Amino acid sequence: MGVLCSVIRFENLHELKRLCHWGPIIALGVIAICSTMAMIDSVLWYWPLHTTGGSVNFIMLINWTVMILYNYFNAMFVGPGYVPLKWKPEKAQDSMYLQFCKVCQAYKAPRSHHCRKCNRCVMKMDHHCPWINNCCGYQNHASFTLFLLLAPLGCIHAAFIFVMTMYTQLYNRISFGWNTVKIDMSAVKRDPLPIIPFGLSAFAASLFALGLAVGTTIAVGMLFFIQMKVILRNKTSIESWIEEKAKDRIQYYQTAESFVFPYDMGSRWQNFKQVFTWSGIPEGDGLEWPIREGCHPYSLTIEQLKQKADKRVRSVRYKVIDDYSGACCPFNKGIKTFFTTPCTEEPRISLKKGELILVTRGLRHWMYGDKILDHLTTEDGSRIRGWFPRKCVEKCHYDAESDQISEGEKKNR
Ligand SMILES: [Zn+2]
Ligand SMILES: [Zn+2]
Repeated sequence: MGVLCSVIRFENLHELKRLCHWGPIIALGVIAICSTMAMIDSVLWYWPLHTTGGSVNFIMLINWTVMILYNYFNAMFVGPGYVPLKWKPEKAQDSMYLQFCKVCQAYKAPRSHHCRKCNRCVMKMDHHCPWINNCCGYQNHASFTLFLLLAPLGCIHAAFIFVMTMYTQLYNRISFGWNTVKIDMSAVKRDPLPIIPFGLSAFAASLFALGLAVGTTIAVGMLFFIQMKVILRNKTSIESWIEEKAKDRIQYYQTAESFVFPYDMGSRWQNFKQVFTWSGIPEGDGLEWPIREGCHPYSLTIEQLKQKADKRVRSVRYKVIDDYSGACCPFNKGIKTFFTTPCTEEPRISLKKGELILVTRGLRHWMYGDKILDHLTTEDGSRIRGWFPRKCVEKCHYDAESDQISEGEKKNR
């Protein structure tokens, strides 16, 4: 209920401008085409409303559309929740554990990150999603994930309608010796005959909608599994990268410390309950977080500060071992790379064997970083930065002779 109220609060009307962006326009277009075509196909040809099954089917189709749009608009308009401007921790001495955001003039609360697109510090930021033209974070994590679950389910239902409509209509028209196939065609042989015959344009529109529905099912379904993993581990994709760098840092300096990710409550159910609640409002206030036993309340932010102080880890050096064209979804880098392309507007960069890259963040199959350019090209201050497949690079070994800067840093400590 609380979520609903925040949607219809009228002072949020300026938020409507979020719709004017290619992401929401395409997403809403796909939803509109698939649901409208599924309803038209059902009512006119495949499953008429005067049958019980047809009515149930129609109600289900409306149901999917309403639930998908409800969660989609919730994710978009409720937003992730922002750290208040000029925010300070309650106890002044705690600020020593936190980074300061100059743009928001506030300390970065644990788990929050500054989003360049939203231009605010976002609570429990996971990523900025162009499809909702907003960040996915603390407040909209549940509705975003529900949308990712419902959209493929609705598309599977729609795809079934498209396939059955095309199949039964074609079968009805050109029964060339398919009589051996025993399929119950009672739904097709009906009177009165359909008002509008299933013509070529209806066939083309159904086929097009089927393509959209199948594509959405696969692409969005993958995103759903990624988000469920994030929720069940209570670890955002940004935090996974911080953890990876923490391990790297500890291994490199051979310190006796160990980094335990503090927000994973140890049980998937406990983690799940923090995001999905009956009230629709996630647990907590988005600024303070329950932590695992034995962890310091600020252990993650302390680790972030350590990484910030350690220039070597802030960006890990990688060497290109395989060429990459810069395509968004490359075909030749494996199926996982193809399907997990980062859901962002940030650029991809092409790679050539032997080039060096300073990686600043990464996902399981993709990484983001700056190309290390030679001195001639860097003088004008230009940078080449963007995403590329993890498969194409390998981590440089620190004891390599060429890596003298890192060696020097190591000795200084
Ligand atoms: Zn900020
Ligand atoms: Zn954002």
